[in-house]
Amino acid sequence: MSPAHKLYEGKAKILYTTEDTEILLTQFKDDATAFNAQKRGTIEGKGEINCSVSAALFEWLESKGIPTHYVDTPAANEMRVRSVKIIPIEVVVRNIAAGSLCRQTGLAEGKVLPSPLVEFYLKNDELGDPLLTRERLFLLEIVPPEQLEQIKAMALKINEYLKEFFLGCEIILVDFKLEFGIDSQKRLLLADEISPDTCRLWDKTETDPQARVMDKDRFRRDLGEIESAYQKVQQRILSQIAKWHN
Ligand code: UDP
Repeated sequence: MSPAHKLYEGKAKILYTTEDTEILLTQFKDDATAFNAQKRGTIEGKGEINCSVSAALFEWLESKGIPTHYVDTPAANEMRVRSVKIIPIEVVVRNIAAGSLCRQTGLAEGKVLPSPLVEFYLKNDELGDPLLTRERLFLLEIVPPEQLEQIKAMALKINEYLKEFFLGCEIILVDFKLEFGIDSQKRLLLADEISPDTCRLWDKTETDPQARVMDKDRFRRDLGEIESAYQKVQQRILSQIAKWHN
């Protein structure tokens, strides 16, 4: 049995090897960063919340036929995942205008998009994760055209399943970021995490534009009550999952 060693430490997670070469262990941290790590802080309990929320959503998506890297959660802030080679793009799906889409296009925050928008950003902190055109994607040879189509189709399906799931939790899924990887059998798997760190989630029961924010925008925009918003997301998701299991 080879001892676990740290493979990589990112902003929100640490990745370890395990005795099984096909399986890695992800440890979710309470550390929070925003604006390409220019803003740093801690969100108490975030590691456990993001781990349990991601696990629940991966299980839900698997049940719908979406292949993910999720294996299990041996501890509250630890997830075992299938080892994949991460494709270095951040796939953003948007249902409602917010964040960089509003800053860069002038669209009003809250505008419902006529159909979901899928965007690709280069996963490169030094370059500030720039928005890519398809031409740049192919120029950089990041992903072949057929695989890009497969990723886009999967992202749109995931959006439909997640939107439905979140509506059952009285949460509006505004936008979110996905990452994909390729496993040793060359399968395309949904990877990384799906959590209030990587999604914009608005409380359907609130109309006030600040009170409705249940995600990392509370940290980005110094809105306060970050921990309680994350806890509320976790409670609603886990009770929805419990209903689904029963
Ligand atoms: N996002 C993320 N990681 C990133 C960039 C974006 O998880 O490095 C998520 C973000 O939380 C939001 C969505 O992707 O749910 C779209 O983010 P946007 O492009 O609007 O960027 P932001 O306004 O956060 O800079």
